[in-house]
Amino acid sequence: MSAYRDGDKTIVLLPAGLSRTDEEQWVRRMLDRLAAKEQRRRPSDAELLARARDLSARYLDGKADPVSVRWVENQRHRWGSCTPDHATIRISTRLRGMPSWVVDYVIIHELAHLLVPSHGPGFWALVERYPRSERARGYLEGFSVASQGSAEEY
Ligand SMILES: [Zn+2]
Repeated sequence: MSAYRDGDKTIVLLPAGLSRTDEEQWVRRMLDRLAAKEQRRRPSDAELLARARDLSARYLDGKADPVSVRWVENQRHRWGSCTPDHATIRISTRLRGMPSWVVDYVIIHELAHLLVPSHGPGFWALVERYPRSERARGYLEGFSVASQGSAEEY
């Protein structure tokens, strides 16, 4: 049995002939193991910052220029947050193990806040430059509903 990520997908390989209940239990177990493994080899804060700079260059004309982008544990109801005055961004460790295009969306969202603090039309116009924005929002909404039955802020 094994589980791995392939781009946006997670592949779980199981032997044939398991009952439906066993199958579900194994899938859950394999996903937990995979998440634990990914947690151990999380990208460093430095890698996160490099990624944010790359995303800013690609989608925001390099105008958003963060000085730090860090993983943080204590963001129970947020995927990310930022302090525009200091150009610092914090990303919730709950995003670890999610597809990279979803993490990129949260980074783009916070980068756009460095330029436009409010959630007005100007802000969304920036965020929508990232082609998978809408899909990523849907993914995160679905995840929030499934995991805690409440809406997330970010
Ligand atoms: Zn926001």
